[in-house]
Amino acid sequence: MSTAVIIVAAGRGSRMGGELPKQWQLLADKPVLAHTVAAFAGMQVLVVIHPDDRALAEALGVPLVMGGATRDASVLAGLRALEGSGVTRVLIHDGARPLVSRALVDRLVAALEVHDGAAPALAVTDALWRGADGLVAGTVDRAGLYRAQTPQAFRFQPILAAHLAHPGGSLDDVQVARDAGLDVAIVEGDDSNLKLTFPGDFARAEAILRGRDMDVRLGNGYDVHAFCDGDHVWLCGVRVPHSRGLLGHSDADVGMHALTDAIYGALAEGDIGRHFPPSDPQWKGAASHIFLAHAIALARSRGYALGNCDVTLVCERPKIGPHAIEMQSELARIMAVDVGRVSVKATTSERLGFTGREEGIAAIATATLVRA
Ligand code: MG
Repeated sequence: MSTAVIIVAAGRGSRMGGELPKQWQLLADKPVLAHTVAAFAGMQVLVVIHPDDRALAEALGVPLVMGGATRDASVLAGLRALEGSGVTRVLIHDGARPLVSRALVDRLVAALEVHDGAAPALAVTDALWRGADGLVAGTVDRAGLYRAQTPQAFRFQPILAAHLAHPGGSLDDVQVARDAGLDVAIVEGDDSNLKLTFPGDFARAEAILRGRDMDVRLGNGYDVHAFCDGDHVWLCGVRVPHSRGLLGHSDADVGMHALTDAIYGALAEGDIGRHFPPSDPQWKGAASHIFLAHAIALARSRGYALGNCDVTLVCERPKIGPHAIEMQSELARIMAVDVGRVSVKATTSERLGFTGREEGIAAIATATLVRA
């Protein structure tokens, strides 16, 4: 079974206003039709265009077919172009619906296992009125009424035969199919699958696209270092006088290590040990800001910015509170972010466990990364 998509984009779109037909107007910096084509990435796509738009359409990088004088004629031109190609199912889609989801496509294709055709629709939930001269002239029972969307999906040979036999003037392909006696299932549509008809629809579509781009990543990190002889510890980039030191391959900055691992974790990039192997002598005694700066640079190179981070140090002593502001400032400086995105706090463990016995310090950290 093989599925093709015919995107019908040959109309001149008079309701939108503007110089260009709506399918060629820009939505989030790309022509509407480029979004529509991208929504079917990986599928066999054919776009039916108006002959005047050939130069614009070549940039789409998909096969083109010249449309006819009516929508019916344009769809038929697309179907005929697929004849003999081995396609067994076809989705016929309006070029001005750029936000169609793959989940919807999957629902339609699944319905074709059982039915000749399947089309998405949403049950009407608003009250329906008839109006005349600006006044309500009556109400309409909305029971059983649906708002039809595209793509409308069909088994290929039956819909080709239906279009060939149809006299023309149809509202959509479902009507053509039904006029030929095909059964068409109603599949649950999608509110986001809007048809760009009026200028305000563009703003709504852009908002939906922005929401889809939202990519928030969360990572956590945990680290422990044991106390050893010494007179200070490094915590979150700050030298804190203490009666002990912390044992470690680098400067043993347990808080900064936990934070660095949280950022690597958000990127699914392992931990400090992967990027700075302890077996490599060049990192012996290294200042931990090198690790943190590397992690944040890796995040930026992937297009992410730090949303916020939160580090908790677990120890009885030294007291962290007097240094917390300086620690936040230092972490923010290393990561080149606003200090308001960085939290450092501390807790004791009520004298329980290894931290309670003052054998070492533990740190946990959380970081979010957002697509910049
Ligand atoms: Mg460590």
